Amino acid sequence: MQRLISVSNRLPVQVEKRRGVLSFRTSAGGVATGLSSVLKSRESVWVGWSDTPSNLSDKELKTVENVLRTEHGCLPVTLSRREVSGFYQGFSNSVLWPLFHHMTVFAEFEPEFWNDYKSANQRFADVIIGEYKPGDIIWIHDYQLMLLPGLIREKIPDAQIGFFLHIPFPAFEMFRILPWRRELVDGLLGADLVAFHTEDYAHHFLESAKRLRGVDDRFGRLEVEGRAVMVRALPMGIDFKRYRDAADTPAARRERDGLLSASAGAKVILSVDRLDYTKGIPERLHAFDAFLERYPKWRGKVRLVALTVPSRTRVKRYLELKDEVDRLVGVVNGRWGTVDWTPVSYMYRSLPFERLVGLYSAAAVGLVTPLRDGMNLVAKEFVAANSGGTGVLVLSEMAGAAQELTDVVMVNPYDRNMVIEGIAEALEMPEHEQISRLDAMSAHLETHDVYRWAHEFIEALDAARCTQLALTEHPLNPEQRKRLLVDATAHGRRSVILDYDGTLVPFASRPEDAAPDGELLMLLDGLAVTKGTSVTILSGRDRDSLDRWFGKLPVAMVAEHGAWLKEPFDDWVAAAPLDETWKEDVRPILERATAHAPGSFIEEKEFSLVWHYRNADPDTAEERVRTASEALGPIAAGRKLALLEGAKVLEVKVDGVDKGRAAHLHMGHSEEEFVLIAGDDRTDESMFEVAPPWAWTVKVGSGRTRAKFSVDSWREVRALLGELLEVLG
Ligand code: UDP
Repeated sequence: MQRLISVSNRLPVQVEKRRGVLSFRTSAGGVATGLSSVLKSRESVWVGWSDTPSNLSDKELKTVENVLRTEHGCLPVTLSRREVSGFYQGFSNSVLWPLFHHMTVFAEFEPEFWNDYKSANQRFADVIIGEYKPGDIIWIHDYQLMLLPGLIREKIPDAQIGFFLHIPFPAFEMFRILPWRRELVDGLLGADLVAFHTEDYAHHFLESAKRLRGVDDRFGRLEVEGRAVMVRALPMGIDFKRYRDAADTPAARRERDGLLSASAGAKVILSVDRLDYTKGIPERLHAFDAFLERYPKWRGKVRLVALTVPSRTRVKRYLELKDEVDRLVGVVNGRWGTVDWTPVSYMYRSLPFERLVGLYSAAAVGLVTPLRDGMNLVAKEFVAANSGGTGVLVLSEMAGAAQELTDVVMVNPYDRNMVIEGIAEALEMPEHEQISRLDAMSAHLETHDVYRWAHEFIEALDAARCTQLALTEHPLNPEQRKRLLVDATAHGRRSVILDYDGTLVPFASRPEDAAPDGELLMLLDGLAVTKGTSVTILSGRDRDSLDRWFGKLPVAMVAEHGAWLKEPFDDWVAAAPLDETWKEDVRPILERATAHAPGSFIEEKEFSLVWHYRNADPDTAEERVRTASEALGPIAAGRKLALLEGAKVLEVKVDGVDKGRAAHLHMGHSEEEFVLIAGDDRTDESMFEVAPPWAWTVKVGSGRTRAKFSVDSWREVRALLGELLEVLG
């Protein structure tokens, strides 16, 4: 069974030093609980930041590391104080947290925070890369580590990486605010599986990936440089039985009895949350105040018990919130309280598990009204602790849990009127209806518990790997690679024919930005000067760009998908007579498409007009490709033009001028000669088609192809060319 490397910001073990003695306390959060079942059958290690006390000696630090590793299976990541402040309090909690919860006004877009976020993610990556053994599975958790999948992928291209985001992923309109939006999407796209609590979040992520990276979405599968990235909704559950069973323990019973007798017949409305501005605590207090005003009959007969857990007390906004909540509790109690009735009982602390369950089970109503919440486990815990009994959950539709818990009294937390009426409805709901609603929700939570969640994630990660393998049906494996190199050395003459964009360099948003770098130029130059080797760059690019980039190298070039040919250091020769009159019929159609899809543009070449839509809204662009193609069809037939759909381009060109024809001119035609052809998109298929049977044809990326072999990305092509140069040089 493969080993699992779990990664989260914090380790599930806390280290403390009291009166000179070190102690280790495990905090079994939801994730650790869920994983415990997965881990029964496999080896594991947990990587995370350990908030180790700062006053430890070197010897104590060694002991801590040792105990964490041997007794708890934990591998700590060390972060400097400054990094913690910029990465954790800064970027994670003062940028991503507010933005992803729609609280943009609280976000502080400090560039320094971003630098710390990057360097902290790099530290995590270094630890994982050092620990990784082939075959391991890596499961990364949450918004603090969004760059990590990409950083690991860079160093370990075939690692199996899953990522789960525990907070919401916002719609593109919100996400685009973030100055570092592309980097974060790239980071996540390094994973094989990216999962969220709800379909909405998954959909939002797909949308952002499409818009920012131009990647194609095929029913929740993104294709990134030939890799498949699965995007799934996998709502996290709770340890249902533990909450249900705990309601019967003596400690829970004591808490319940204590609360009920102190309430003297008044019904208990319970709210439990971390003191966070996403939880809607002030809004809830306002609503409760207004409820008492509108429903005098409930005064003295109901009480709100608000358990508020201290959180992020070093962040200013949280301290301000605490003041606001303190004040509002005072306002409501001052306004409605009597000598024998306090409307709001407010606790600012955390309670042990069984006492918390006691509170849940004593409550007649659970009032869970976050303004935005990734999931909200409290809602699920309330249902579990009351299952088999009575109780009504009033739940915000802005919580991820609302997607699953449909038998609640659903409210919009921003709609005070709706919350007031929701409370009234919950308090007056007949018992039989309470029971049937709780039964339905309990049945769902019991089967969809946190153990199932962890299993499903691992299963989905395995499935993602299978998809990956199916996509690259004939990857160039190490064995074949070796044969290719032997074949190259065995021949005295060789032609190497290479497409450019996507094959030798990654795609850039603006075509002019994809200039070759020094490494690539050296590789091509090295190969081209090797005795008996001819190198041809066969591209859709115009002549000027190719001349500018490769004019100084002894390579042959083909521009505009085969329209212009050039031997090394010679002049360009047209592949067909030049006639541009057809453009007047075609141009208006492409101009219409451009007008409808902002961000798109037309590129003009002698033999073709190309509509680029990589930077346009993908849905609009697809629609436009369809309408433009329909309009262009008859013109193309009448004027002997070809219509090509490439990587985010629609090209209309003079027919009979294609890469296949040009490649044919440049390759050797007897078995005496070694032939290597590499390309990535549909226009390159014509080269594979004309290749002789002994040629090595390599498709870059996934998808159907006539090429014999495939590789994942342009990086692999470069690696292959590097090896070729090494064996030939
Ligand atoms: N919780 C706790 N002690 C308390 C009150 C709450 O451990 O005194 C737990 C609660 O059981 C729940 C978690 O805190 O599991 C809160 O999770 P939720 O998803 O509701 O909100 P989050 O804090 O993750 O935003």
